Amino acid sequence: MLPEIENLLRLQEADKEIRRLQEEIAELPKCVAAIERKLAGTKAQLEKAQAAIKADEAARRKHDTTVADLRGKISKYRDQSLEVKTNEQYKALLHEIEFAEKDISATEDKILELMLNADAREKEVKAAEAELKAETAEIEKEKAEARQRTAEDEEQLAEWRAKRGQIRAGISEDLLRHYERVSKFRGTGIAEVRDHKCMGCQVMLRPQTYNDVRAGQQTVFCDSCQRVLYFDSANVEQKPEPEQHKRPRRHHPKIDAPQAWYYREDYAGDGEALLCFTNADSQSSRRVFDMHTGRLLGDILIREGDFRHAFPEDITGAIRLNGSWSEEEMETWGTEMPMVALDSLHSDLDAARYEMSHPSGKMKQPVAVPTGQVAS
Ligand SMILES: [Zn+2]
Repeated sequence: MLPEIENLLRLQEADKEIRRLQEEIAELPKCVAAIERKLAGTKAQLEKAQAAIKADEAARRKHDTTVADLRGKISKYRDQSLEVKTNEQYKALLHEIEFAEKDISATEDKILELMLNADAREKEVKAAEAELKAETAEIEKEKAEARQRTAEDEEQLAEWRAKRGQIRAGISEDLLRHYERVSKFRGTGIAEVRDHKCMGCQVMLRPQTYNDVRAGQQTVFCDSCQRVLYFDSANVEQKPEPEQHKRPRRHHPKIDAPQAWYYREDYAGDGEALLCFTNADSQSSRRVFDMHTGRLLGDILIREGDFRHAFPEDITGAIRLNGSWSEEEMETWGTEMPMVALDSLHSDLDAARYEMSHPSGKMKQPVAVPTGQVAS
């Protein structure tokens, strides 16, 4: 990676951190304001409860006065009743007294109601006072925390700004201008390349662009989003080689099986061939098939004895394959092996070759038969 690109990556990190700190510093007063709003709400509630108590007290005083006035009236009426001349006048006064007594009774009911209410009002005020006290303590704590955090953030911000200045000094002016222009529009100015793609805009790169980024000898920009591109080989090396893990372990043919298949790269000048040997009744047969068409080449040859002893020259240096078809089935093939059989032999050959190029300690037997082993 070019040192300038490394600097750009560090610059991007510094820019990101500076942005985060600035946002956090701007956010803290908003948090404090929100708590203060809540505190103001609790204060208003308390004031309302206190005002309600005052209003009740005023009402009570008014009712007390009303009762006293009514009592005064009744006493006056009683005095007057001693001096009246007619029965009608007397009745009228009694009527007035009765009225006033009813008024007193009604007003006293109201006073009683206010007295009962006063208890509830008192409780409301006490609760609001307690809440206000708790909230005030809380907000003082939060304000102190916010102040401390802001101070820490400011300190970090100053450090990052100094660092940022140093990093910028290690980048050419042109590249810096380009990076800042793209950052302004897209949020970031540099992007990693992975799997032939720009991770900034997810667009596939042209092969030449990709090769240039991988080579890391020059500054390369994404054709699509204009971000500066870089390649991190650490991210690629971490990936496991998929083939090695996906490929299942190959089943190995049995050494004493009555039928054995082999592959030869060049058989009797006919090119690649598949050979099939079958042991039966102290005799062995040999069939030769064209590797690509599956056509039977020549006649079926029969010799005395086990095929390892009867056809040693055919087996030497050949690759043993997995395959087993009954004599009856093979007779139905006629002069051409069916595709399904040919495909299965091809894929087993493929697996055998892979195994030979990736030797593992667990392998029990060599796939190619060495010369010395044939006679045994
Ligand atoms: Zn891009």
